[in-house]
Amino acid sequence: MYELKVRASKTYGITIAENLSLFTERVLPLITGASVAIITDDKVSALYGGALDGFFTAKRVIKIVIRHGEKSKNAANYLKIINALAENGFTREDTVIALGGGVIGDIAGFAASTYMRGITLIQVPTTLLAAVDSSVGGKTAIDLNAGKNLCGTFYQPSAVYINTGFLKTLPVKEIKNGLGEVIKYAFLSDTVRKEDIGDINAALIYKCLKIKRDIVEKDEKESGCRALLNLGHTVGHAIERLSGYKLSHGACVAKGMVYAVEVSKRIYGLSDETVSNMYALLKSGKHDLSCGYSAESIARQLAADKKRYGDRVNFIAVKDIGKAEIVKIKISDLKTMMEDYESSFKSV
Ligand code: ADP
Ligand code: ZN
Repeated sequence: MYELKVRASKTYGITIAENLSLFTERVLPLITGASVAIITDDKVSALYGGALDGFFTAKRVIKIVIRHGEKSKNAANYLKIINALAENGFTREDTVIALGGGVIGDIAGFAASTYMRGITLIQVPTTLLAAVDSSVGGKTAIDLNAGKNLCGTFYQPSAVYINTGFLKTLPVKEIKNGLGEVIKYAFLSDTVRKEDIGDINAALIYKCLKIKRDIVEKDEKESGCRALLNLGHTVGHAIERLSGYKLSHGACVAKGMVYAVEVSKRIYGLSDETVSNMYALLKSGKHDLSCGYSAESIARQLAADKKRYGDRVNFIAVKDIGKAEIVKIKISDLKTMMEDYESSFKSV
């Protein structure tokens, strides 16, 4: 069992255990009202919909189930959730539990943060991606027609409870999705090592979240160093959009990491040894690291990115494993470096 404390605008605990045996001790004291809403998706509901019931025999429990998948992270389901809370007489004392992956964590978090200007939120992630990343740090969101995560808040949960037992039913694709983020952490800090990556367990999740916790505590609202967590994401998001979201987020982050390495190699003149260590790490998640999109099309996506600053973007570069930094780089320079990388594999 592992525990972490996050000292952000709210101080809260993260528990990482192999079962739910600590749920009573760590989470129940935070649930003071009479009503609890468990928000989940249809797949998670079929597997674990009843897993928390035994803890709430003295409470009124309602369950709100939405269809699985990113398409469900929409305004209609958000309204469905907050209307259900209202119709069931939820007050500011009551609690929302997000039981599911990143989609559920984001939409339930957004609902909890806005219903009556904010009610207690407990995150119980059931995917590796949500466990190592999205359940911690307080980002909540829904998607709009114009793009993903365009509407959201910063709202910290009151607790995060990770039961690694829930992860046993994840299909390989979902494990790889989470591993995209795990590899990102392995580049941000040398505490997550290549050898750790094959084995999805509480210790690995703890190491990843410790890195995220340390960054979020310094910069909760992403005005500075929190951008380091976007390592692999600048290009990764571009690839995700180019694929029409057919590729998973983590799969795109892994591909984006290749560009992080290749661009860093060109910015810093990294040694062959450093680059080969970086590739060994990249390969440890068994991702398909080929891209399939041209430097030109990626650069076009970056130029349309809302996060750009004029003709520049924040690019997270790596001097070495464990040494990442934020570089404001011209999209045109990035494009030249990506083209140089492109021509290097075209010529072999
Ligand atoms: P993510 O966490 O990757 O952002 P989702 O919330 O969409 O994304 O979850 C990915 C998929 O995995 C969904 O179809 C969801 O129903 C399913 N899922 C979530 N948790 C589990 C689990 N523990 N076992 C099996 N499938 C799960
Ligand atoms: Zn991510």
